[in-house]
Amino acid sequence: MTVAQDKVVSIHYKLINADNGDLIESSKDRPAMAYLHGANNLIPGLEKALEGKNVGDEFQVTIAPEDAYGPRHDSGVQKVPLEALKDIENIEVGMVLTAQTEQGPANLQIIEIGETEVTVDANHPLAGTTLIFDVSVESIRDASAEEIEHGHAHGPEGHQH
Ligand code: ZN
Repeated sequence: MTVAQDKVVSIHYKLINADNGDLIESSKDRPAMAYLHGANNLIPGLEKALEGKNVGDEFQVTIAPEDAYGPRHDSGVQKVPLEALKDIENIEVGMVLTAQTEQGPANLQIIEIGETEVTVDANHPLAGTTLIFDVSVESIRDASAEEIEHGHAHGPEGHQH
């Protein structure tokens, strides 16, 4: 069986920032991550690289921002009055707020706190970053009709509900 549309695939991975070599995330100390292939559960560049792979395959792929979390937009950085955030306790740099916008919920990370204004960034933390994934394919199985309908994998390593 190979990785293809409507397969549930379990992978172990290491995610590295290609710009500075920093390890961003590793699945080493937890169960392999299960996802439904072909349902946009992963960033496009990673899903494309997994297509056609077999159990036991190990590979490294470098993914440009366009196929990962997108480019950074300077317009995503905005100042809001400190007054508007007065209901939030212990406001601090690095905190991520969820704001309702016309495009749906957006995550805003606080990057600076001034006397009267707070600077927030709506960009994904990995926007504009080229990523390196070290991936190993642990298992592949057919998705159930329910998983295909839901658009995600079920089970202990997937979606729980
Ligand atoms: Zn489900």
